[in-house]
Amino acid sequence: MAIEIPRELLPVDGRFGCGPSKVRPAQIEALAAAGASLLGTSHRQAPVKGLVRSVREQLSALLRLPDGYEIIVGNGGSTAFWDAAAFGLIENRAQNLVFGEFGGKFAKAAAAPWLQAPDVRQAEPGTRTEAEIVDGVDLYAWPHNETSTGVAAPVRRVAAEGALTVIDATSAAGGIDVDLAEADVYYFAPQKNLGSDGGLWFAAVSPAAIDRIERIAASGRYIPEFLSLKNALDNSRLEQTLNTPALATLHLLDSQLQWINGNGGLTWAAARTAESSGELYAWAEASPVATPFVRAAEDRSPVVVTIDFADEVDAAALAKTLRANGIVDTEPYRKLGRNQLRIATFVSIEPEDVRQLIRSIDHVLAHS
Ligand SMILES: *Cc1c(COP(=O)(O)O)cnc(C)c1O
Repeated sequence: MAIEIPRELLPVDGRFGCGPSKVRPAQIEALAAAGASLLGTSHRQAPVKGLVRSVREQLSALLRLPDGYEIIVGNGGSTAFWDAAAFGLIENRAQNLVFGEFGGKFAKAAAAPWLQAPDVRQAEPGTRTEAEIVDGVDLYAWPHNETSTGVAAPVRRVAAEGALTVIDATSAAGGIDVDLAEADVYYFAPQKNLGSDGGLWFAAVSPAAIDRIERIAASGRYIPEFLSLKNALDNSRLEQTLNTPALATLHLLDSQLQWINGNGGLTWAAARTAESSGELYAWAEASPVATPFVRAAEDRSPVVVTIDFADEVDAAALAKTLRANGIVDTEPYRKLGRNQLRIATFVSIEPEDVRQLIRSIDHVLAHS
């Protein structure tokens, strides 16, 4: 029989997955309350357009957008954005820093036949690599937070004349502080730290990125309409998407943004994720059977914590026991194949629930 964790050790909310991730109960209640005045209504009319406007305004506030930057939105999640970038953002050649699954997926999309093969800079999982200026590269790309490994990388503009710095912020946006002046494109989907559901992508784009989007769109290159960033730009300015968006996703995102901005914005959110992740890293460093997977402390993500276990602990069995007790999605990224737990410490997750999770893990370890 599975070990039963005493109730007083359990977190109030057992969702620690890295995406889809915890949606706060207040968001779900707000969605239910909005109900029939929103769901099932036209995405070309005021209730939904107003919602898109609110999301774009609140994202601009949260990310403290520099002058001239805009928020654009499209359907298909971050994965669609990679293909859209291959069609409409990479002029000729990208440099892709790859230190996990997600960085690798953008590198694959950037290997499109109409482009020069990307300059891929690979690093071992759990470490990272730096951009290096190369002649002929017009777009430098890396994830702010590599969700598959728990490595966070600084967002710093690559000082190459005319080149764009493009950051995958899918799991970082709204949970790690950032200066958007250091990036031309900061794109993300809302089902991770932003505590909504999947299916949409958002991108904060600089004037230089807008220029690039418009120039490539006018160049005669074939671009499918669904993947056209120019199309997304034009539609976003009208507070809409090319085709029907998920209205519930937008609503959940809107209430999450109100909550973060109302509590103090990015500074508050970053302090909260640092507190939660700090508890786990400190626990792992002090534990005789656990170690942070990311050795370099400065590369450790504040929003996705990966913890390796010694051979005598079966991390898969540990995750299974936690699951049986209502603590879900602590399994490691499937392709990493390590004896590991991966725990989200996104802004929605209460720091006290992280402390309870640690108590629960200690209980299971002591009774296995
Ligand atoms: C989850 C994730 C993605 C993929 O997002 P989708 O919306 O599912 O396409 C891309 N990049 C990073 C860093 C992620 O964490």
